[in-house]
Amino acid sequence: MLHDILDTPIEYLKGVGPEKGKALKAELQVHTFGDLLSHYPFRYIDRSKVYAIGNLTEDLPQVQVIGRLQRVEEVGTKGSKRLVATLVDGSGSIEMVWFAGANWIKKLLKAGQTYLVFGKPSLFGSRLNFTHPEIELYNPNAAPETKSGLRPVYNTTEKLKKKNIDSKHIEKLTKTLLELHGDKITDFLPGEVLSENRLIDRKVALHQIHFPRDLAAMQKARFRMKFEELFLIQCQILGSTQNRQQKLKGYPLPEVGAFFNKFYNEILPFELTGAQKRVVREIHHSTRSGVQMNRLLQGDVGSGKTLVALLSMLLAVDNGKQAALMAPTEILARQHYTNLNYLLQDLPVNIRLLTGATSARERREIHAELLDGSCHILVGTHALIEDKVQFKAFAMAVVDEQHRFGVAQRARLWNKSDIAPHVLVMTATPIPRTLAMTLYGDLETSVLDELPPGRKPIETRHYFEKNRLQVYGFLKSQIAEGRQVYLVYPLIEESETLDLSNLMQGYESLLREFPKPQYQVSVVHGRMSAYDKDLEMQRFKSGETQIMVATTVIEVGVDVPNATVMVIENAERFGLSQLHQLRGRVGRGANKSYCVLITGHKLSKEARRRLETMVQTNDGFQIAEVDLEIRGPGDISGTQQSGLPNLKLANLVTDGQLVSLAREAAKKVLDKDIGLQNEAHKALKMELKKQEETGTNWSLIS
Ligand code: ADP
Ligand code: MG
Repeated sequence: MLHDILDTPIEYLKGVGPEKGKALKAELQVHTFGDLLSHYPFRYIDRSKVYAIGNLTEDLPQVQVIGRLQRVEEVGTKGSKRLVATLVDGSGSIEMVWFAGANWIKKLLKAGQTYLVFGKPSLFGSRLNFTHPEIELYNPNAAPETKSGLRPVYNTTEKLKKKNIDSKHIEKLTKTLLELHGDKITDFLPGEVLSENRLIDRKVALHQIHFPRDLAAMQKARFRMKFEELFLIQCQILGSTQNRQQKLKGYPLPEVGAFFNKFYNEILPFELTGAQKRVVREIHHSTRSGVQMNRLLQGDVGSGKTLVALLSMLLAVDNGKQAALMAPTEILARQHYTNLNYLLQDLPVNIRLLTGATSARERREIHAELLDGSCHILVGTHALIEDKVQFKAFAMAVVDEQHRFGVAQRARLWNKSDIAPHVLVMTATPIPRTLAMTLYGDLETSVLDELPPGRKPIETRHYFEKNRLQVYGFLKSQIAEGRQVYLVYPLIEESETLDLSNLMQGYESLLREFPKPQYQVSVVHGRMSAYDKDLEMQRFKSGETQIMVATTVIEVGVDVPNATVMVIENAERFGLSQLHQLRGRVGRGANKSYCVLITGHKLSKEARRRLETMVQTNDGFQIAEVDLEIRGPGDISGTQQSGLPNLKLANLVTDGQLVSLAREAAKKVLDKDIGLQNEAHKALKMELKKQEETGTNWSLIS
């Protein structure tokens, strides 16, 4: 087999050797030549430009100056010791300050010599200074590194710096590598991918990304390497989908039988929306043949996902198989259970509820019924996955509100029956397209892009604390019209006690404002037993109480159509998707609904952006995009450790278009050559294999 020069262990590079090699591996995960080349510069400095000290202002980014060192001295006592030096050129002078590492920098500095200094001018009191600038003796005869003057700056670590492996040294090693071995770098992207996407050759790109000829060349190089990163990920994801389709069997569910038809024709209280019909057809289509389905159903709050879940589960039952519906919270699981029992009361379907609160005896009973097949539909919390339940024939797993559902948990479903169940993952917090394509690239997606008829858009307003009475007045007028309202307090896990006391205080002052018997108030929080929570929910649902005070336990799924106002206290403490979820609890009936966001006066920039977004739009997809922008992708998926690709160059937020482009390109290649058997794809196949072996396989995460 052809040896790829880039696989050579790093210690064999001229100037590295065993000791440095070890440090590079430990500190930067640079094991091979290839790793060094993909340790990309995180920025470039324009070394061709030298500023006059007199022209510096604090608005400038990092700049370069040349000057004579006038004075070096250590000032301050033990705790606040620092090194101060003054640099002068013909135009002025500037102070430089080091707080840490003063000793070894001091050795470097000699008054009277001329230095090249690189740093960010910042204001200290009324004077400009450089804090911790880079500094080196100025050598007027040194040849410029590149014509452009753009020089790479690399990340390094304190440990490496102590071994003299600083950014400059990495630059030198990279330069050596490219000079000695650069010619042997080959490209593994297929020719047509290069030409169709106007990508430059890999060899050229790697040269230009480290030592750009000019700005344009650097941009082309970065584009090429970003594309490559995303393309490889998509190849893995799509490649494994194709594998899976060939390998993984699911229960075939061809029959649309008595259960489905009776429910659809005789029980369903309203017409399905066009989108619901389409999605049910899509699900039937992909489960009928016996290939295991993995489907992500995205639908904004209130779009009617529960019915789609129900119909999918009836498909399983019609074919003599079993189904499960999993929810993120106990309340929601119970609500689903009650709801399903109500809707299916005239059908001989055995539905069971299994949660953390289920007694040991009942649990045993349920386990037995699942094994002998007499339980048709199991409803529960995500704890179902941890539970050792086994099914006779588990054909359909519906996971509600996926954004709270860990990636690893999903994989556990596969061990619950002989054949892996079809998986339908439902989420009301739409995952932005670019992220979905990367995280869930091998799931098929369905979208409920239509709300049931007659829904009126929810009006959202933002109030400051001090105008609380106005809000109460509004609530009273709504209650006088027969409506109900929610009042929600944030729940932050680390300080459950604090939140509870917040909630209880709010509850008590609310009782003064809304006295009995005119007003009835329910309260639900995480410290209550499942039974009590349920009781309070039922009281609210039946209209016995008009106000529901709650922590975010009601965040997802709760359905009380007569409730028209959602008041969110401390709204600045909630994330966007949470706010949107909470708002989705209203606007479910025929009456106009409102969402009121109450905040303190002081707001961070991000909090203000979130509130503005909520006031401006009801569109969950748009909200998800803003959320992604504010928080970054890792936070949203909640899979920092286990899931999101650790991209070196590409950014899922800002490179959305490139993700699509790379995906299209990958699809095209794989469509033509499923197993990459083609000679022209040999190098690509090898590269993918290499990535898999080094543990960067993203196809496993969905
Ligand atoms: P979500 O997608 O947020 O889970 P739900 O499934 O809870 O939404 O549905 C929201 C509300 O809309 C429920 O009260 C449900 O009964 C109602 N609903 C669902 N589909 C329709 C429809 N096609 N026509 C009228 N109402 C519907
Ligand atoms: Mg729901």
